[in-house]
Amino acid sequence: MRLSTLVIAATLVPLAACRPPAPEATTEPAPLTATAPAVRDIHSFAEPHLVKVRHLALELEMDFAARTLTGTATLQLDWQDPAADALLLDTRDLTILRAEAGEANDHWRELPFELAEPDQTLGSRLTIRTGGQPALVRIAYRTSPAASGLQWLTPAMTLGGQQPFMFSQSQQIHARSWVPLQDTPMVRFTYEARLRTPPQVMALMSADNDPAAVRDGDYTFRMPQPIPSYLLAIAAGDLVFAPIDARSGVWAEPALVQQAAAEFVDTGRMIAAAERLYGPYRWDRYDILVLPPSFPYGGMENPRLTFATPTVIVGDRSLVALIAHELAHSWSGNLVTFATANDAWLNEGFTTYVEGRLIEALYGRERADLDRVIERNELRREFTAENLALQPLAIAQEALPDPDDNLTATVYTKGAWFLQFLEQRCGRERFDAFLRDYFEHFAFQSISTAQFRDYARLHLLGQDPARVSEAEFDAWLYQPGVPDTAPQVISSRLAAVDAAREAWQAGTELPEPAVTAAWSTQEWVHFLDGLPQALDPGRLAALDAAYQFSGTPNGEIAQRWYPLTVRSGYTAARPALAEFLGRVGRRKLVMPIYKALAATPDGLAFAREVFAKARPALHPITVGSIEAALAATQAPAAVPATPPESANGG
Ligand SMILES: [Zn+2]
Repeated sequence: MRLSTLVIAATLVPLAACRPPAPEATTEPAPLTATAPAVRDIHSFAEPHLVKVRHLALELEMDFAARTLTGTATLQLDWQDPAADALLLDTRDLTILRAEAGEANDHWRELPFELAEPDQTLGSRLTIRTGGQPALVRIAYRTSPAASGLQWLTPAMTLGGQQPFMFSQSQQIHARSWVPLQDTPMVRFTYEARLRTPPQVMALMSADNDPAAVRDGDYTFRMPQPIPSYLLAIAAGDLVFAPIDARSGVWAEPALVQQAAAEFVDTGRMIAAAERLYGPYRWDRYDILVLPPSFPYGGMENPRLTFATPTVIVGDRSLVALIAHELAHSWSGNLVTFATANDAWLNEGFTTYVEGRLIEALYGRERADLDRVIERNELRREFTAENLALQPLAIAQEALPDPDDNLTATVYTKGAWFLQFLEQRCGRERFDAFLRDYFEHFAFQSISTAQFRDYARLHLLGQDPARVSEAEFDAWLYQPGVPDTAPQVISSRLAAVDAAREAWQAGTELPEPAVTAAWSTQEWVHFLDGLPQALDPGRLAALDAAYQFSGTPNGEIAQRWYPLTVRSGYTAARPALAEFLGRVGRRKLVMPIYKALAATPDGLAFAREVFAKARPALHPITVGSIEAALAATQAPAAVPATPPESANGG
């Protein structure tokens, strides 16, 4: 997923004073000669060492009025242990109606099952007593209207206002809220689905969507490549298609589809650039589904159908790194997948690295470096003395009870920075060849950090040990902070922004519109990121008059500007701020604003008022985050960190 969550909190150390904590090992590196240890996923009840799901067949009926999916999931099983006689599945808030074993002659034998008391993080373990080892188990079930992985929108919450809308977000462990299954990335399966919907809506899945499909309320899908459960995806609404080129296009509501296709016009070139670097795109079509503004993340790399927030459609393609990111997941994440959330950097760090290479290939090094500088500043702000255990790339199991609690910038930016370090030391040509081989070697497998480490030691470091020492290599994986070996980037465009901002703070005029007219989103973000925590309201009024920050349609600017106005007591921005919070539900963009408001009694009262109005249109994931922020207000330091945008990052 994408993107990193920027947490702006009063407790954060100012940028200039923020340095990575001194390296201190919190996780013992595995012995250098070790092979990959047996991996266990503590975020799932499944026992894939006993039995693995190989194929899933769904038959579901979609009911917008009841906000439910009802039907059956048929699991094709590959038994691993001859003594096993039970199937353990993950569920959350599902009503299980029946379990059956498939036998010869299409006969189904009813099976006893137990649904355990729910665990708040993991949901309920479903134990099906198979009394043997049937090849098929079929479960009849119904989802809850409050399913954590689904959002149901009334017509009024959509752009067109005519049809209802629904969509899923399965990462990290929300697939279990709409399908009973082994909800762990360690298990991969192919799937097929038959879906019945109201006839006026178009339904799509992370599968073989047909751009020419006719709306009739009866849809079938096939996903022939094996995927982990978090890539199961479904959406339905007033969706139409606009092609970008022969193998890519955009699905969106009619009012937005042409604008979206124009913003994402470079998608085909991005796919071609990725294939030149990392080998063929293996998923057939690559389409983008633009969701309503309530989508809680930036993007989600559902295979063949990236789900994307409309907040990146800003008219100048300055935020299309999101598409580069989700597309990159077609190699890092969807093709080679982390085995557990503790190895999330294998998905997100690799993807952020590849994203940067694609931006570089299409738009040049300078543009890619803009994003790198901004992301690394964000990473430095994320490190605190309290989260040392989450700062290594490889997270110890006990440090991550909830898979959504990884530090975002660490997983994304530090992960990518590690690969940039390896690239610099080994040379780009050799490193590109290594990555291409890595994607090929582990294609359609789920792997751990230890497996990556073994592979890299053999195929990269072992080739020329003088380039990177094992101690240097392991410091990135197992120690907090960023090692001293990290290569630095400098952006001359951002240096010019620094100079303009500093001149204004020293008392000279603001940069002329003729200068700032050429600024992209990244320059504005950098301008705002470098301002003090609070300014005199009169100074903010001058900024606002010059650049019209209040009311900006650009969420990256809004999520920085509004918290600054709140901390500074510049209340003239409040109507525009309220309008933004009423319109946008992307968690990364709204949380810094709510957190800033929650820091004072007056701001808190205002935040509660705004939230009460916005709430009906918000995703359950965003609602949960806002409630936590507004509840923990007595001591601002105790405000919980916003979980990462992706369950990994969106
Ligand atoms: Zn991602």
